[in-house]
Amino acid sequence: MDERTSTGRRDRGRLEALLATHGILATTQRLRIAELLFARNQHQTAEQVFRELARMGTPVARATVYNTLNLFAARGLIKALAMDPECCQFDSNTEPHHHIYYEDTGEVADIPAGQLQIGRMPELPPELEARAVDVVVRVRRRA
Ligand SMILES: [Zn+2]
Repeated sequence: MDERTSTGRRDRGRLEALLATHGILATTQRLRIAELLFARNQHQTAEQVFRELARMGTPVARATVYNTLNLFAARGLIKALAMDPECCQFDSNTEPHHHIYYEDTGEVADIPAGQLQIGRMPELPPELEARAVDVVVRVRRRA
């Protein structure tokens, strides 16, 4: 057994536990997708996840990738970002944070903590509470 295999086994146990805490049964394919998503904080479309898994030699059917990402998002394991109405990005970081959206490329990046501040919140009816503030700064190259 090489080092990579033993590391993989440890990660697998950690990922199985993570999925279980979100009420998700850890199938082999879900674990592959989770392993890719949680290797680092990142934003990926379902298509990017599908292609990356194929590139890594661990292909998962496109429909399974889409269904799994939507399941993970529904259970709060990842966050679905609606930057573009035609293409959802999935964020492996579910902590509150803001984003820059590059309209030219479709890429998404986190805005470092403290770089954007909300000066004032709107008054809300007493029966409502603000759950989150998600700011998207949309950018493009100057013409
Ligand atoms: Zn993010």
